Amino acid sequence: TKKVGVLALQGAVSEHISQINQLGGQGIAVKTPADLAQVQGLIIPGGESTAISRLIQQVNLYEPIQEFAKTNPVFGTCAGLILCGSGITDGGEKLKPLNLIDIAVTRNGFGRQVDSFEVDLDIENVGKAIPSVFIRAPFIDSVGQGVKTLATYEDKIVMAEQGNVLVCSFHPELTDNNQVIGYFMSKIAG
Ligand code: GLN
Repeated sequence: TKKVGVLALQGAVSEHISQINQLGGQGIAVKTPADLAQVQGLIIPGGESTAISRLIQQVNLYEPIQEFAKTNPVFGTCAGLILCGSGITDGGEKLKPLNLIDIAVTRNGFGRQVDSFEVDLDIENVGKAIPSVFIRAPFIDSVGQGVKTLATYEDKIVMAEQGNVLVCSFHPELTDNNQVIGYFMSKIAG
């Protein structure tokens, strides 16, 4: 059984854990470096990116997550995408990104007037017409060499991958379709 951690400091934790369990894995809430040492993959969920960033530093998980990502798959969804990236285009000075994937990000990129929406996305490596929920979602402005774009929406990059690290702008845990989290779990050895 693959042990998959979900960073459980703030945000959408329990839905990720239920999808991992439905897919035959064991979802584990990660709150400390000791928790992180138990798992083979880590999801950094949606929520509020500045709050999660502050808490990561408070509980001393900043460097352990960076070390973990060198040899284990990490998946950042929504706020988690912002945290996994290497820079924020529109300020975000309170946020210390983990720099796990070479992408620059615009927070709340789809505009305040459209707070949330659902679309069907064609996602490379995953499948076609995958229902995807966007909630005050970021998008990726630019990707470095070695980053592969997996999905776009309205010409904006909303899912990408570089080696062990996968990111998406939307909330894959909020629909009944579990193919996106299944794809992440396929990256975990064992
Ligand atoms: N807008 C949020 C942020 O910048 C992310 C929203 C989400 O995770 N649903 O942190």
